[in-house]
Amino acid sequence: MTKRLYYDTSDTHEFESVVEDVMPGTSEQPRPAVVLRESAFYPTSGGQVHDTGWLTLEGAERLRVVEVADADDGRVLHYLQAPAKLPAVGVRVSGSIDRERRQDHMQQHSGQHILSAAFVELYQMPTVSFHMAEDYCSIDLATSALSSEQIVGAEKRANEIVFENRPVRIRYVSRADAEKLGLRKLPPAERDELRIIEVEDFDLSACGGTHVSASGQIGSILLRKTEKVRQGTRVEFVCGQRAVRMARHDYGALSEAAGLFSAQLWDVPEQIRKGAAESKLLRKQKDDALDELAGLMALAALHEQSEKNGRKIVVRAFSDRDINFAKLFAQKATRTATPAIALVASTVEPAGLVFAQTPMRASAGTSGSSDMGALLKQVLTSVGGRGGGSRDFAQGGIPAGSNVNIDQLLREAAGRIES
Ligand SMILES: [Zn+2]
Repeated sequence: MTKRLYYDTSDTHEFESVVEDVMPGTSEQPRPAVVLRESAFYPTSGGQVHDTGWLTLEGAERLRVVEVADADDGRVLHYLQAPAKLPAVGVRVSGSIDRERRQDHMQQHSGQHILSAAFVELYQMPTVSFHMAEDYCSIDLATSALSSEQIVGAEKRANEIVFENRPVRIRYVSRADAEKLGLRKLPPAERDELRIIEVEDFDLSACGGTHVSASGQIGSILLRKTEKVRQGTRVEFVCGQRAVRMARHDYGALSEAAGLFSAQLWDVPEQIRKGAAESKLLRKQKDDALDELAGLMALAALHEQSEKNGRKIVVRAFSDRDINFAKLFAQKATRTATPAIALVASTVEPAGLVFAQTPMRASAGTSGSSDMGALLKQVLTSVGGRGGGSRDFAQGGIPAGSNVNIDQLLREAAGRIES
């Protein structure tokens, strides 16, 4: 059982200890690990991520601690950056915790306690889980609905508690006493003695984490994204320097956007709304114009053809229009009074073919018509393309980068119809 120096104070960054056990790396866990008699390193647990730092051996050799984890038997495992020359059991070591990372974790975790308590105080929304990632944190609240007023309300209340700089104390109480104290959160495990984190006159929680000693050290609590999750509503937040970094990052992105619009920062959403409405209108105008253009081009193409066996055949390959335009053209060419067959292609990537014919009324029978789906399959199969469709309309793609002569394909298709 490792004696945990962080239990009583979070400010121990340097400590002396002795190596009690050494585990060389394995194929499953390539990083070696050491166990110390006592340690100030915090192992990942309770939503908080582990510390990092250094172990210095007697001969001044330094080992990098990259991860810290709890073993089932109560020992703390210090994983070392591999490869490392491992210390012998019994050797004295000096431990040194990365201060900035520890400080950050203290700010986030204490901020979480206060934020969770604020949600309970104001809206009776208990926290069911806490997660600390590398750049943000989140809590899951047991509620299916969370309004933006409630988000702002909880953020304001939590920051009031921060600014009042209330003492944050570590207390040890028996489980029976803890139940009488009315903790916001009781651990599920049966333990005789509980470690309680108390934010004076505001929150009492059983917790093993590292915390600030006064709420003012949290700096600030900034709420960000919320989303519905299975167990309720997830609220992302950042505290302390993370909040400053995040706000700086957001400001940078927003400034860049404002610059692109030559607008004031807070006018960016309005500019985006305007731009989106404008591009929607332009898209509609473009679609209408293309529709009209396809219709006129189809008419002109039909006009050039003479009728054979009661129908016209239009063959056209577009090198400057995409497959959607080719489709539009084929539709226009085959929805006219005179029955027609349109064999159309686009060579703009992704290149493709569209074969269409004027649908025959059932009373007129199918004589004089061809099967577009079958025809398309025949010519595409020969070049490794894929596609298909109905008797009257078929569409397919030509493999990208293939050196297919599309004009040749269309001629071949036309030949099959006429034969
Ligand atoms: Zn906690």
